[in-house]
Amino acid sequence: MRLLLIGPPGVGKGTQAKFLVDHFTIPQISTGDMLRKNVRNKTSLGIKAQAYMQAGQLVPDIVMLNMMQDRLAEDDGANGYILDGFPRTIPQAEGLDELLNNLGQQLGCVVVMKISDSLIINRLSNRRSCKECNQVFNLLYDPPQKAGKCNECNGDLFLREDDIPDTIQQRLNIYHKQTEPVIEYYTQRGITEIIDAKGSIEDIKTNIIDRISAYNN
Ligand code: AMP
Repeated sequence: MRLLLIGPPGVGKGTQAKFLVDHFTIPQISTGDMLRKNVRNKTSLGIKAQAYMQAGQLVPDIVMLNMMQDRLAEDDGANGYILDGFPRTIPQAEGLDELLNNLGQQLGCVVVMKISDSLIINRLSNRRSCKECNQVFNLLYDPPQKAGKCNECNGDLFLREDDIPDTIQQRLNIYHKQTEPVIEYYTQRGITEIIDAKGSIEDIKTNIIDRISAYNN
């Protein structure tokens, strides 16, 4: 199963991707997590990407496509994967088609998670992530047991630099302008499933698994 998860920042793509990893036993490929790891390790890719990420802007398409070319060539994706946060622009979607073509692979289903901007702003400004294991908490809906510490690994929790209100708005503007056209790109192929993402995590999970079970790529 080769899945794409598309939705605005903070809609819960990462949370749902983790369920799908367990359900299908395929890896999650999150471009945001990959980039943040590169920034932390000060790699040349991380150095290129950092300023864009801090400003809530998209990293250039060519950088993203090169990164994904390397990632998709790894063996763990032979039976499928969940792409989380990629493609985010039409050139990235076209580039992905070319990469998949070269690998002899086809996309199964594109899951589109929908929610209002006001809920996103509320969720993201209360989101905290673990520095060590990337586990995500929400101070309002899913607070950590010990303030400032991860339940899983006791790592320090932090507010992402791009989760401050002005930057969230900037990321939402970019989503509407550059990423929403990608939904249309896949809708024309008849492989999109639109999911209402404002319910409980459990309901959203059940809905996604139900809807994608009709696809077998
Ligand atoms: P995310 O964790 O998916 O919200 O990504 C965090 C940041 O990483 C984004 O705001 C962008 O700066 C960058 N990023 C992640 N994925 C992409 C992508 N597919 N194209 C361009 N920039 C990306």
